[in-house]
Amino acid sequence: MQIRYKPRRGLLGTIFQIEILQGMGLTLKRLFSRPITRQYPDEKPRIRPGFRGQHALVRDPATGDCKCVGCMRCAMVCPSRCIRIRSHKDKEPGSRRMIDCYRIEALRCVYCGFCEEVCPVNAIVLTEVFEYSSYDRPSLYFTKEQLLANWDRFAAQLDMPVDVYVNPFWRPRGLAERDLPAPKRLPVPPEWSGEQQVVGRQWQRHLPPEHA
Ligand code: SF4
Ligand code: SF4
Repeated sequence: MQIRYKPRRGLLGTIFQIEILQGMGLTLKRLFSRPITRQYPDEKPRIRPGFRGQHALVRDPATGDCKCVGCMRCAMVCPSRCIRIRSHKDKEPGSRRMIDCYRIEALRCVYCGFCEEVCPVNAIVLTEVFEYSSYDRPSLYFTKEQLLANWDRFAAQLDMPVDVYVNPFWRPRGLAERDLPAPKRLPVPPEWSGEQQVVGRQWQRHLPPEHA
């Protein structure tokens, strides 16, 4: 079946070519309205709540190493299977599990944020850094040292204390506060938390003194 488009146009419309006038009116209107384009990279976009950028392993100021305890939750939950962890634990009682190798293949990551959400000690984070494109694959295959360096760079540009960095946006949802792992159990004032969504920086700026 052939469908024919029959424009509805009256006699006046045909005489005065009304569509052309409408188009010119729209152009004239846009001429005096605020531009919506952004002059990137001179003008940076505003980071939105819950933004998921470059991966980083938070450096523990006490040890200088990452906070990761090698529980493997992030590797297990990752839908892209792009996290590899190798760890060992000494036989001495009370010794901490040491991370020998922690790798993220960023090119396979889908930036779901699940790794950050499940981490019980807030060791892995998706920072607000988005400018890290590269021409070679190896530089986007983050090793533990690179992930710590990513954190150092991100922490350096934050204007706040960073040893307690938590982004409550990436907490397990639907759980009572008491059922969350202790480091994620932080009060989120309702006025910041449209559906419990609070960005890390905003959270940090308002940290109560006992957490600062
Ligand atoms: S953001 Fe998602 S896909 Fe990327 S490493 Fe984390 S869990 Fe895996
Ligand atoms: S979930 Fe956190 S503590 Fe557990 S292995 Fe991953 S980064 Fe380490």
